[in-house]
Amino acid sequence: MNLRVTPGEPLRLMSVHAHPDDESSKGAATLAKYVAEGVDVLVVTCTGGERGDVLNPAMDRPGVRENLAGIRRAEMAAAREILGVRQRFLGFTDSGLPAAGEPLPEDCFAVTPQEEAAGRLVALIREFRPHVVVTYDETGGYPHPDHVRTHQVTVAAFEAAGDPGRFPGAGEPWRPAKLYYHGALSKAWFRTMHDALTARGLDSAMHAVLAEFPDDAPEPEFTTRVPCAEYFAVRDRALLAHATQIDPDGGFMLHDRDVEREVWPTEDYRLARSRVEVVLPEDDLFAGLRTCEPGQGRGPAPASTTGW
Ligand SMILES: [Zn+2]
Repeated sequence: MNLRVTPGEPLRLMSVHAHPDDESSKGAATLAKYVAEGVDVLVVTCTGGERGDVLNPAMDRPGVRENLAGIRRAEMAAAREILGVRQRFLGFTDSGLPAAGEPLPEDCFAVTPQEEAAGRLVALIREFRPHVVVTYDETGGYPHPDHVRTHQVTVAAFEAAGDPGRFPGAGEPWRPAKLYYHGALSKAWFRTMHDALTARGLDSAMHAVLAEFPDDAPEPEFTTRVPCAEYFAVRDRALLAHATQIDPDGGFMLHDRDVEREVWPTEDYRLARSRVEVVLPEDDLFAGLRTCEPGQGRGPAPASTTGW
């Protein structure tokens, strides 16, 4: 099967996340960059984030917690507009982050049978027909049960979507060419940013985060670094649209953006599966797929006719 893209066909990227806000905190500048190049980008959000906390003190007020599901849908819609992407919910319920020893809620995503969840994602893959799929690595990026589940479900759906024997009622088989895992917010990123800020005499609030990484935390192995510094401002606007989740005066919003653009101007990925020939390292998620035709991500794409 020739997996290179048909000349004239727009490239398509699917980014699968656990909760609203994850698309803006992991790989958002990459999404905005590809949108600007004419790539058709679909964010899939597995859950509604219903059991999330309110992490912005200014939003921790009466009426917010009680209506969190609706508020997070509205925040997601605002972030979607800012990033210029399409977005779909997969329709599962947030598992929350139970304390050690606490059981998971019975209705939640993390206890949904993997086959059922993968079936829904297979149907979306067959409908949208992405060339590239991005999700978390096997650790989930951090140990939230929905993030680990998102990884498992996405890998299962990536494998099954092209197999006519699997989920026969879920649309025409489609084989995405590449699967990537995010390398966002790695220990290397925090250490590099901390050192750069300190060397410039700027305050770094990253001591505490760095101290949380175990000394023997494995160094990330990035295969693919996508230059996207000119879209960090779009990323930041999308993040702030998730007002219940992002404190504009804390955490990730604090560090100097000029320093970040200078010392870490990329978002980073690990290529997990490829059905096309690749040469590593890469700087483009679509490396090996482009046919150098207009409308394939290096210029404006023709209007989509798929109804997305
Ligand atoms: Zn999340």
